Amino acid sequence: MRIEDGVELSRFTTLGTGGPARAFARPESEAEVEELLRWAEQQAVAVAVVGLGSNLLAADEGVDALVLKLGGELTTVEVDGDVLRVGAGAANAVVLHRARAAGLGGFEFACAIPGTVGGGIWMNGGAYGGDFAGVLERALVATAAGSGWLTPAELGLSYRHSELRRGQVVLRAELGLRPRPQAEIKAEVRELNARRKAAQPTNRRTFGSVFKNPEHELSAGRMLEACGLKGHRSGGAQISPKHANFIENADGATTADALALMAEARRRANEQFGVRLRHEVELLGELELPEL
Ligand SMILES: Cc1cc2nc3c(=O)[nH]c(=O)nc-3n(C[C@H](O)[C@H](O)[C@H](O)COP(=O)(O)OP(=O)(O)OC[C@H]3O[C@@H](n4cnc5c(N)ncnc54)[C@H](O)[C@@H]3O)c2cc1C
Repeated sequence: MRIEDGVELSRFTTLGTGGPARAFARPESEAEVEELLRWAEQQAVAVAVVGLGSNLLAADEGVDALVLKLGGELTTVEVDGDVLRVGAGAANAVVLHRARAAGLGGFEFACAIPGTVGGGIWMNGGAYGGDFAGVLERALVATAAGSGWLTPAELGLSYRHSELRRGQVVLRAELGLRPRPQAEIKAEVRELNARRKAAQPTNRRTFGSVFKNPEHELSAGRMLEACGLKGHRSGGAQISPKHANFIENADGATTADALALMAEARRRANEQFGVRLRHEVELLGELELPEL
């Protein structure tokens, strides 16, 4: 299995930021992932996976870990009755396409989540009332000690959260769907995409929602808008003028620029609303936000 060094993670994140990984590999089978996990354990190197990097901020200085990008057999999608057996590296768009072709509904919520199944499970990604917890039957998860199937309860899926930890690699998943006419699926996807386009900066480089919605009458986006942050800039990053819970790569942004905006947003939300916003985006490498 080829292990590369110096691979820039900016190539693999939707924001387009992030420095080099200490080690990088593209396993194409379960056996290759297991081999890499054993290698990492022997070398005492941490392991992380990058899906489509659509919810990921990687440190500009680089990431001291073996970073895996799943390919080959780990991106396949098979239909078996009402169940989709998918590789964790499969893009949601591909899974949805296959589900629709098979006349299976239930995955429409993922139409505008530009990630992979593995990232969706890690984050319990969701939108418009649906999420991975609602369709996942079980997931095959590898660690250096071996692989095993876990149920959603064992994965601890809740709002944009799972109990998965670095060193655990989601290899495959089984999604339980239900028969639905293709035309209905198509119509719903069209409607959800239109709603998304109207509200969010879909034509900009972002990493999706920056913060989780707080327990408050205002969503994170509305709160940051009320703080006057739309269009606020730090270096090459800016808070989206369209939706304040998005950060755009406006012009050569770095991860440090995005973090600076996040720190300012948290400071203002705390000052103005007494709310401590929690970030939804995953941080990879030596990154942290200042204490409030
Ligand atoms: C325009 C836009 C809109 C978005 N809208 C939504 C939305 O509506 N709802 C929503 O929930 N999210 C949304 N997101 C965020 C993002 O798309 C989701 O969180 C998505 O599920 C991340 O998947 P990914 O494959 O890109 O994961 P990445 O961003 O690559 O990784 C996210 C985390 O998952 C881990 N991971 C990825 N794959 C694996 C694996 N196989 N095994 C173990 N760990 C893994 C990574 O290490 C990281 O910790 C949006 C993002 C963008 C850019």
